[in-house]
Amino acid sequence: MFYQGPIYRPPSEADSLLVQATVGCPHNKCSFCCTYKRGPRFRVRPVNEIIADLREAHAELGNRVRTLFLPAGDSLAMPTAELAEVCAQARKLWPSLARITVYAGVNSILAHGPEGLSALREAGLSRLHLGLESGHDPTLLRVKKGVTSREQARAGRMALAAGLELSLYVILGLAGPEDSLAHAEATAQVIDRINQAGEPTLRLRTLLPKRRTLLLHQIDKGRFTLCTPHQVLAEADRLIAGLGGPLSLHSDHYTNYVNLSGRLPVDRARLRDEIARALTLPRGAFRPDFVGDQ
Ligand code: SF4
Repeated sequence: MFYQGPIYRPPSEADSLLVQATVGCPHNKCSFCCTYKRGPRFRVRPVNEIIADLREAHAELGNRVRTLFLPAGDSLAMPTAELAEVCAQARKLWPSLARITVYAGVNSILAHGPEGLSALREAGLSRLHLGLESGHDPTLLRVKKGVTSREQARAGRMALAAGLELSLYVILGLAGPEDSLAHAEATAQVIDRINQAGEPTLRLRTLLPKRRTLLLHQIDKGRFTLCTPHQVLAEADRLIAGLGGPLSLHSDHYTNYVNLSGRLPVDRARLRDEIARALTLPRGAFRPDFVGDQ
């Protein structure tokens, strides 16, 4: 089985078979991300090699494989026909596979277009893990995300309209204290626009500075200030207050200060109560600031 470079998967794919479809990230510029900053450079693996790995896994694991995730940073950047072939082969090997999922970038979703996304859905791709990070354009620009909120909304709607499931990732604290609430409000607006085409799942993360990143350099130089836990919680509250739903929300990540999980709008009051209670706790009740490695 071939693996090159950092291999990450979302926590929700902890039990998935990982078969690498691409190497690296085609964007690789986000100021907060260290994952592929030391390489390797982005490339798409040859389809015959990916399929050989699928066959090898099938020979070893048989029907113990229930779900399949195709690393690396944006495997939706593959040409439509190639990714469709990989998905179709996986479905042939494991007809009862519950899902096939990838990390996806906004630009990759838009590049496939509605027809390409439908073709991928028909070939067996089920879910996209899409890092919005923020829907606040000044923040997107500052962190070099390479997309606008308008493009995010278009891409998210396009994916849902094609029948794909969508997990959206948002980073609390990404805008710093000054723009914290604007980040929450603009992000809620983008998610609401995506929500018009179907029901995404929202997964919250909290900004943790990482080694070898521009963001850590900016913090060291005094050009960016981290939010306190209480500022992050107030931001989460503003986000949850602004989301219309219906959608599921989870904070299934070690970076978060409180573990929030529920559905909007039905659980809004409970989630906001949980945040209000956390806001009464002292700083020492939350994880300390530290610099992450990966
Ligand atoms: S956050 Fe995602 S898109 Fe941005 S550089 Fe890291 S892997 Fe690439």
